[in-house]
Amino acid sequence: MGRSKGRAHSSKAGCSAPVIKQERKLCVYCSDTVIKKSELLIKGNLLYGYVCANCGETESFTMADLQKMTGADLATLKKCESLKKYTLPEGSDGSDVLVGFFEFKKCGICQNLLKKGDNVRDHNNECHDAVQICSLGCKQFVKAENFEKHQENCGIFCPKCKEIPSTPNNDYRQHFMNELKDVFACPADGCCKAFLREDLDQICQHLLLTHMWISAVKNQQIASPVNKRRRKE
Ligand SMILES: [Zn+2]
Ligand SMILES: [Zn+2]
Ligand SMILES: [Zn+2]
Ligand SMILES: [Zn+2]
Ligand SMILES: [Zn+2]
Repeated sequence: MGRSKGRAHSSKAGCSAPVIKQERKLCVYCSDTVIKKSELLIKGNLLYGYVCANCGETESFTMADLQKMTGADLATLKKCESLKKYTLPEGSDGSDVLVGFFEFKKCGICQNLLKKGDNVRDHNNECHDAVQICSLGCKQFVKAENFEKHQENCGIFCPKCKEIPSTPNNDYRQHFMNELKDVFACPADGCCKAFLREDLDQICQHLLLTHMWISAVKNQQIASPVNKRRRKE
């Protein structure tokens, strides 16, 4: 039985491997060839990929994780249109239902997806020189030479104040810490989106469509309520 050879170390793995190319069944996280076929996954209705067995365990994102991330309780989440395709078992609270695989950490320079437990600094030391971290909202490292230009365009629009707030140290967290109760700032690296917490369905839709590898089969069901609204006339 074929043992997997050349197991790429996640740290070294993909200084160059683009996440987008998925014809050869590579894991979107570690770029290992997926040996045990995972279910076909899709992100944002566009990108297809797989997750290997190892990353499948460490990167899985459940309803409980979504609950923790959004701060909403399960009963409220269950009402979200964007989560309707997940059947939450009767009798259980459904907190262990797999939603997908979340992209928490992504290198802003090579766009490689890192694993939850990876240290982005280590990745940078190995793969990139002269970087600076941006604290205006994207939470990513940027090449020092591009840093100023990047900062001109980076920032999180606050849906409550209806502006991109300026904070004394240019640290977006200062402002959003104060708004924590009403505003949800997306935790994914590279994302500068914020929502009012009351727009929970929008939040979930954003998280699912922008940052999550989800079952391609389920995704078909997600698209259906809008796209093929059947009306007998
Ligand atoms: Zn993997
Ligand atoms: Zn990188
Ligand atoms: Zn930035
Ligand atoms: Zn604000
Ligand atoms: Zn986001």
